[in-house]
Amino acid sequence: MKTLVLDLDETLVFASLEPQERVDLELVIGTTPCFVQIRPGLEELVASIKDRWRCLVWSTGQPAYVEATCKALGIDWMELWARDRCRRLDTIPEQHHEPFDKPLVWVEPDETSVVIVDNAPGSFACNPKNGIPIQTWRGERADRQLVFLADYLGWLVEQPDVRRDHWKWATEVLLLRNAGLALHG
Ligand SMILES: [Mg+2]
Repeated sequence: MKTLVLDLDETLVFASLEPQERVDLELVIGTTPCFVQIRPGLEELVASIKDRWRCLVWSTGQPAYVEATCKALGIDWMELWARDRCRRLDTIPEQHHEPFDKPLVWVEPDETSVVIVDNAPGSFACNPKNGIPIQTWRGERADRQLVFLADYLGWLVEQPDVRRDHWKWATEVLLLRNAGLALHG
């Protein structure tokens, strides 16, 4: 089975220590309240990947936050990796917005069968052909990226080698959708 690594913050959810105009989940991590919005399309995405991929959430968040959030989202059946399993980088190239990366070889040594979806491309700097960049999400309700992603992953899981230039994935899905087609049947 191929492995799908999902980033959490600003990919699947937007979490804040301040109450937001809209709040889907209100969590308490230790003693700290945390307000979480769920990206539209998450349920649809999860339903479509559940039996087709080995699913793993890999976040730079603290373990208690990752566990509580994934449990509340109903995705704690996935393997959960948190900041303690990220690699802290000594130097921060300009394009990195976090001083961490996520070496996919730690998850799956076969590079032909592992992809990561992350809003921070720095996370997959050492595996550029395995990285599916997704727009950073901070609560826009009209966002459709996860729905498009479900289409894309449905096609990708059938490919013998998942490595490719994934940068235009959303445009490819959108063009096909607008033409009344889908990447997979
Ligand atoms: Mg992120």
